[in-house]
Amino acid sequence: MSEPSAGGADTVEVQDDFMVRAENIHKSFGRLEVLRGIDLEVRPGEVMCVIGPSGSGKSTFLRCINHLEKIDAGRLWVAGHLVGYRQKGDKLYELRDREVAAQRREIGMVFQRFNLFPHMTALENVMEAPCRVKREPKTQVRERALKLMDRVGLADKVRSYPAQLSGGQQQRVAIARALAMQPKLMLFDEPTSALDPELVGEVLEVMKQLALDGMTMVVVTHEIGFAREVGDSLVFMDGGVIVEQGPPREVLANPRHPRTQDFLSKVL
Ligand code: ADP
Ligand code: MG
Repeated sequence: MSEPSAGGADTVEVQDDFMVRAENIHKSFGRLEVLRGIDLEVRPGEVMCVIGPSGSGKSTFLRCINHLEKIDAGRLWVAGHLVGYRQKGDKLYELRDREVAAQRREIGMVFQRFNLFPHMTALENVMEAPCRVKREPKTQVRERALKLMDRVGLADKVRSYPAQLSGGQQQRVAIARALAMQPKLMLFDEPTSALDPELVGEVLEVMKQLALDGMTMVVVTHEIGFAREVGDSLVFMDGGVIVEQGPPREVLANPRHPRTQDFLSKVL
């Protein structure tokens, strides 16, 4: 991995104006260059939706934000911290695993597949990470988990096991589970793509409420209606680059780039 240049103190000044700031991010898997220079900024409270064809690097980019992949080049800040690095004097040092884990705790992620623990009730799933990772007192976590289950409309399902819940309900539990860690940023990677069509709306509604409550969110989605209604910004990715971005209504009504026009003509 090529280290970010360790210049003066201004090189890694805390980026408090942005929840996410990406500068020229590159990522390859072997000879396949998946991210080819991503520049992007997400402000606190902003909802950014990301669309683009399959294989364009959307998931990889989210995974870089959440330390699930390591970038090859460029710089990435999340919640004011340079991802993966710590500054000492004017030098940068790679974070230790423990420090990476601390950064990751500020980020909640929801995947296409809900991946709940099948042998735990919905409430136990929501309580698991704060109890195990943060070692918070159980009564405190339980109280928060119950509120979160209520917030995602599942107060009556706290004792249900995942197999007893619909896909939409399971995904709402997964959202509550991510929120239980009290993240500053939520990443959603096609959260409704695995759901039957009639269950999509209930999950999008929970996400909309979260957005209205002020959560900063990056949402990879094919739900154009959600992007138009809830998104503050819309990014179109193709071939590992951001082809176009702007206010959702503008991008959707007047896509400038032929690749955006072509993509939208297929999904709209
Ligand atoms: P998207 O989410 O936009 O569909 P991805 O970020 O999942 O795109 O994938 C972009 C490209 O990177 C694809 O060609 C995919 O096969 C490849 N890719 C993703 N993850 C890996 C990996 N761990 N190893 C090798 N190739 C990968
Ligand atoms: Mg993907």
